[in-house]
Amino acid sequence: MENDFVKEITPKTEDFSQWYVDVILKAELADYSPVRGCMVIRPYGYALWENIQQLLDDRFKATGHKNAYFPLFIPESLLQKEAEHVEGFAPEVAWVTHGGNEKLAERLAVRPTSETIICNMYSKWIKSWRDLPVLINQWCNVVRWEKSTKPFLRTAEFLWQEGHTAHRTKEDAEEEALRMLEVYRDFVETDLALPVIKGEKSDNEKFAGASKTYTIEALMSDGRALQAGTSHNLGQHFAKAYDITFLDQDGQLKYVWQTSWGITTRLIGAIVMVHGDDRGLKIPPTIAPIQAVIVPIFGRQTELVLNKTNEIFTKLKSEVRIELDDRDEYTPGWKFNEWEMRGVPVRIEIGPKDIQRQQVVLVRRDTGEKFTVSESELLPRLKTLLDEIQENMFNQAKRFMRENIRKVDNFDEFKQIIDTKRGFIKTHWCGNPGCEKYVKEETGATLRCIPFSEQSTLGRCIVCNKESNIIAYFAKSY
Ligand code: AMP
Ligand code: ZN
Repeated sequence: MENDFVKEITPKTEDFSQWYVDVILKAELADYSPVRGCMVIRPYGYALWENIQQLLDDRFKATGHKNAYFPLFIPESLLQKEAEHVEGFAPEVAWVTHGGNEKLAERLAVRPTSETIICNMYSKWIKSWRDLPVLINQWCNVVRWEKSTKPFLRTAEFLWQEGHTAHRTKEDAEEEALRMLEVYRDFVETDLALPVIKGEKSDNEKFAGASKTYTIEALMSDGRALQAGTSHNLGQHFAKAYDITFLDQDGQLKYVWQTSWGITTRLIGAIVMVHGDDRGLKIPPTIAPIQAVIVPIFGRQTELVLNKTNEIFTKLKSEVRIELDDRDEYTPGWKFNEWEMRGVPVRIEIGPKDIQRQQVVLVRRDTGEKFTVSESELLPRLKTLLDEIQENMFNQAKRFMRENIRKVDNFDEFKQIIDTKRGFIKTHWCGNPGCEKYVKEETGATLRCIPFSEQSTLGRCIVCNKESNIIAYFAKSY
């Protein structure tokens, strides 16, 4: 009985993919839906999303952005104005063809992203250099008809935020794209405890219609990479296609320079895959819907213990996100397993003996470590403990990532590592899309990014042996 939860989760080492799905379903983050590729985000999963929204939205506001809302539907003619963009998204667009029984005169696309409709509005709103920059973000859903899907990581409909900005100069747009990439890095590393690599995408992997795509890449615990967020410098491609011009200070009519950037519910999948273990979820305290849970150990003194746990719960609840699990139909052991499976960072156990000694027992989800603390010290100790757990979870994931970045100069070795250990492979690349394609066909690995952190040094392309100073990270990815 005690270990039911754990038994129902496939061990990570046995079948990583099944483990991932088991954890998501058992922890009630999400469920499958009757619609292909679409999932239901359950309250516990949605609470995680709300925390993500809150923490990111604060950062967006602090960098001068405002939220707005644009329509779900995009007229076909509008979507088709930017050639590369249409070509990139065409295979994934869902179309509305009828309103009731009536066929529409023009098909409507369900937004796969909103550049087109937003640019259409910007061409109306922006007239003068005084109107710039425009710094708008929207929180919404988008639909991309993905061929294969996986809960959170890749779904046909997903929730996200999309920032869309317009600037006076090329430099301003570049600065904005990099600023928002740094906002993403800071958020993902600080609040989600997920270490990432910051870098630029190759032409082949960049966003359809962008001049440059910047990315943060994370490493899942099975050695596969995950694109965790992207920020695009759109140059003037969309401005030209949608005629977004402004009268500059020098009296000349010019096209604006634009950016767009987004993160999605995919991040919840990354939290599961990076931090989770055979017992289930491990949620970093900063983002956890429940940071601590009190489990009363009644013994033969139910009333005494209930009074005490209630008293402590009342004291703590304005300071931390806490729950009191006073259900009497389950044993303490059963509850321990359930809260561990749901990834709550700290468990507080209180029994008659603890009350006598004016102490409580604390148990960490990240390390399993158990210790007592006096009742009077509980609040400050709990707060520092949550910080320690956050830091430890980040450090652990960071260590794993560091150990799984391998410098390789030989194609056979490249292939062998991709087939066995996976992780990131750091190597020289000549910049030729042909060589990039060859790697993908031969190994299944894609070029994740050209990292900012690597000093460029001279070496030879892993495929064609040509001399180059470009260092690229390749990996198998989700
Ligand atoms: P994009 O607009 O293509 O740059 O996508 C923005 C972000 O959405 C990317 O960084 C991806 O991590 C994420 N993303 C792309 N497709 C999906 C999907 N089908 N489900 C969830 N997240 C996605
Ligand atoms: Zn080459």
